[in-house]
Amino acid sequence: MESMYQQIILDHYKNPQHHVLPSEFDAEVHHVNPTCGDEVTLRVKLVDGNVAELGWDGEGCSISQASTSVMSELVSGGSVDHALQLQTKFLGLMQSRGTAELSEADEDELEDAVAFEGVSKYPARVKCALLGWMAMKSAVSEALEKETQ
Ligand code: ZN
Repeated sequence: MESMYQQIILDHYKNPQHHVLPSEFDAEVHHVNPTCGDEVTLRVKLVDGNVAELGWDGEGCSISQASTSVMSELVSGGSVDHALQLQTKFLGLMQSRGTAELSEADEDELEDAVAFEGVSKYPARVKCALLGWMAMKSAVSEALEKETQ
């Protein structure tokens, strides 16, 4: 199981998804994780309550870059509500310190993001795994605020 998860992380690190910044966007954020030196710039465009465009650029450790790639694949094209729900679920998993007991439904929903379950045992790496997810949440919130103005 561990090695299958490591493979998923490695695959996303080597071949990151949505790894291009869209030219049209509603919000752009830049998040850093100074303890590890990870950085991510992320842009989103929302249309009718959906994440119509999401793209990012970044540098740092394999966990931070792979997790951002997995996140972007999971939330792109889906509803904003679903994106934020997944973010909450992933945050819970990462804060569990290795004690999370995922139901089959959780695993189905988190897809490749379950590969980071083991990371929750290492507090120093949790911020790496969360970087892209926190960036997505702020970008979406910023875009939603603009919509209501
Ligand atoms: Zn890192």
